[in-house]
Amino acid sequence: MHFTEPVYRNPYWPTYPLLQVTQGCTHNRCRFCSMYKDVPFRMQPMETIEADLRELSATVPHARTIQLLSANPLVMRYEKLVPILEAVNRYLPDMEHIYAATRVTDISDKSVEQLRHLRELGLNEISLGVESADDWTLERIRKGYRSEDILMECRKLEEAGIEYWVTFLNGVGGRSHWREHALTSADVFSQLNPKVVGTGGLTLFPDTDLYREAEEGTFDPLDEKGLMEELLLFVENLDHDGRFITHHTSSVDLNTQHFNRDKARIVSSLKAEIDHGDIGRMSMIRSMKRGL
Ligand code: SF4
Repeated sequence: MHFTEPVYRNPYWPTYPLLQVTQGCTHNRCRFCSMYKDVPFRMQPMETIEADLRELSATVPHARTIQLLSANPLVMRYEKLVPILEAVNRYLPDMEHIYAATRVTDISDKSVEQLRHLRELGLNEISLGVESADDWTLERIRKGYRSEDILMECRKLEEAGIEYWVTFLNGVGGRSHWREHALTSADVFSQLNPKVVGTGGLTLFPDTDLYREAEEGTFDPLDEKGLMEELLLFVENLDHDGRFITHHTSSVDLNTQHFNRDKARIVSSLKAEIDHGDIGRMSMIRSMKRGL
């Protein structure tokens, strides 16, 4: 199998096996991310993809799920994606779920009809690292799209029947914009129907712009308590009829398959954690994080 490090596997999706169809990230400019800094974007040649699929058909011939790598494989034009998905189905005939993480902007050049066809070929679940739906924050972190793009592209996915995840990057608006980041993101996400809303707390990694800005004093990050308060505001204002997952430094379990049903429990758990949680322990856990 041909893989270029780093390989990011969604820990919440039953993805086995993995198939690299692109390497790196076409954007590679988000201020909080350094994952693909030294990896030039490249599309995997079709011969390499087919060689990997031949290997998979020999080792896992009855695979029913597969994750396409890397950061944003759907940046490929529809005409390039179709033969790849057809090859996946040819080599792995029991395939049911093809999953990929990708950027919001990767959907924009595809029509609803094209997306529907991709779904018919098995691409039925997508994860969008949206991070925020607040335009000030999106511009500040150089995400490369606006809230109106999120709404438009996610609605196309819904029309095409492709399930999708959206993420809220807790803390990425910093201390000056935490309220707007939380409230606007919750408002925009509530207008959509994602399968999963995921949240994670911002960790500043030394090789990122945001880390340098925090060192220089031009970005004022939230502390662990501030992160929890922002997450609470987001959760209180989110209307989401689906799964909710968080990875944060607290040990309190906020995950659920039914967010709206369990929202009161999540809110009260977060409030208790803000009042009585071990903030020192949370900071220590964050300082040990080495990757997203
Ligand atoms: S966060 Fe995602 S889109 Fe932004 S640079 Fe990193 S991999 Fe690329």
